[in-house]
Amino acid sequence: MQPEGLDPEAASIPYFIIAYEEALRMQDKQDSQSKIEQLQKIIDESSSIVFFGGAGVSTESGIPDFRSTSGLYHQQWAYPPETILSHSFFETKTEEFYKFYREKMLFLDAEPNAAHKALAKLEEKGKLKAVVTQNIDGLHQKAGSKNVFELHGSVLRNYCRKCGAFYDAEFIKNYDGSQNDGSASNYQRTVPRCTKDSCHGLIKPDVVLYEEGLDNNVIEGAVAAISSADCLIIGGTSLVVYPAAGLVRYFHGKYLVLINKSSTSYDASADLSINEPIGEVFSKLKI
Ligand SMILES: [Zn+2]
Repeated sequence: MQPEGLDPEAASIPYFIIAYEEALRMQDKQDSQSKIEQLQKIIDESSSIVFFGGAGVSTESGIPDFRSTSGLYHQQWAYPPETILSHSFFETKTEEFYKFYREKMLFLDAEPNAAHKALAKLEEKGKLKAVVTQNIDGLHQKAGSKNVFELHGSVLRNYCRKCGAFYDAEFIKNYDGSQNDGSASNYQRTVPRCTKDSCHGLIKPDVVLYEEGLDNNVIEGAVAAISSADCLIIGGTSLVVYPAAGLVRYFHGKYLVLINKSSTSYDASADLSINEPIGEVFSKLKI
């Protein structure tokens, strides 16, 4: 007689579950591997690739995603980030704008990740024609990409509104007013002002704020690139944010690929959709 608890049938249940879960894991791994192989094949076959990227491309470089649950939109500020990052807020509460901007928008130590690097390499090899990005961190250029359409501008460019003088992001980050006048008020210390001669003009980041329109030249360039591409890879965006969804309509090429951590409503219409972090996906490709 068998002691209680060692009934072979009962003992086989947990084993069966473990084996089943293991089989599922193997299946997921195989699916993921086969999807990477499919993506490799698509990239190998394509000669005019365009990459369209959203916030998810930057999160793997440590830059928080605006709209994710752990992102900026759920953090505690006196105003919602959409309000602070608006044109009217910049005009009326410039000091508050810059306080937030310096703390939450400038990630000057961030480095390109595997996705940025792979895309730069694809461009160098002549296979990728353009990167269209919603990100404002300049990481594609830092990785070596040349033809980049920055739909929302870049924190790396800042201009005096009075004389047009250029200032880099470090100037904005480190500005303390002493560049202008030692007796500057608190407002003057926190709001970056032009240091050219006696200009003192207000400096504004070349970033498209809420309530502001996108640059027509950038849009036209992005549309031209997307409409002549044979492969469009969309990564790190759920495609719900304007103008992403609108731009995808211009694609008439052979392969539409979506790479996003979570699934999107566009997955079904894509030739290939991969629900994995984009850096991980690109690190597995041979380019
Ligand atoms: Zn100036």
